[in-house]
Amino acid sequence: MKAVLIDLDGVIYQADQPIPGAQRTLDWLKARRIPYLFVTNTTSRPRDAVVEKLRLMDIQIKPQEVLTPVVAVAGWLNTQGAVTIASFLPKTTQKDLSQFAQWAGTDDGCVSAVIVGDLAEEWSFGELNRAFRLLMSNPDCPLLALGLSRYWRSVQGLQLDVGPFVKALEFATGRAAIVFGKPSRDFFQQALTMLDVKASEALMIGDDIRGDVGGAQAAGLKAALVKTGKFQQTDLSGDIVPDGILASFAELPAYWKSLE
Ligand SMILES: [Mg+2]
Repeated sequence: MKAVLIDLDGVIYQADQPIPGAQRTLDWLKARRIPYLFVTNTTSRPRDAVVEKLRLMDIQIKPQEVLTPVVAVAGWLNTQGAVTIASFLPKTTQKDLSQFAQWAGTDDGCVSAVIVGDLAEEWSFGELNRAFRLLMSNPDCPLLALGLSRYWRSVQGLQLDVGPFVKALEFATGRAAIVFGKPSRDFFQQALTMLDVKASEALMIGDDIRGDVGGAQAAGLKAALVKTGKFQQTDLSGDIVPDGILASFAELPAYWKSLE
């Protein structure tokens, strides 16, 4: 095993608190010169805000160590020569897509892509219907999903994530979304390319049995599940079997030893 892909929410921090031992484990990775990359499905804030949020918890990471679906989608839109987009993302995250013109016209316009992220409290029937109508008015307009997570755990409890809204649009339009973010195989491949390792040489560590563990395994990686964040005991009785189960990210050094 040569490198580690690390989920952030639920692995490094939970709500507004760091997971005990997280920074120590990151220091251990650095000391051992084990390459790592944070792979997060966060679309509620831009990459530099993710870094700042962690800094406030005394966890030091760099923007270039973080792969988000928005960063991945911006790269893809560039290859497609996209001009005008309609993105359903919180205003702060739109910043990472500021190189593209944001559609501000009617619901029936022709845009290069409809991008759906975690709009959370800002979702309304009107917003979801606007995305639907933009897709219906142009059969060639791709639906780009920033992850397919079903839900996450906030301070208030479980919250719907981006997946249910993407599925609603897929169902209504009969069109399949292109997924950027976990559990998409392409997203894991993009992370491996950034680390310059093969799938068989990397371990994914996350708290989401489907997005992190199932997604990574389908892409050919080994994957360990942590019992923090959104972990539930029932995760262990489903169809996905993690290669390792850790009480928390702090157990990574001991687990790593067992892989050598
Ligand atoms: Mg997570």
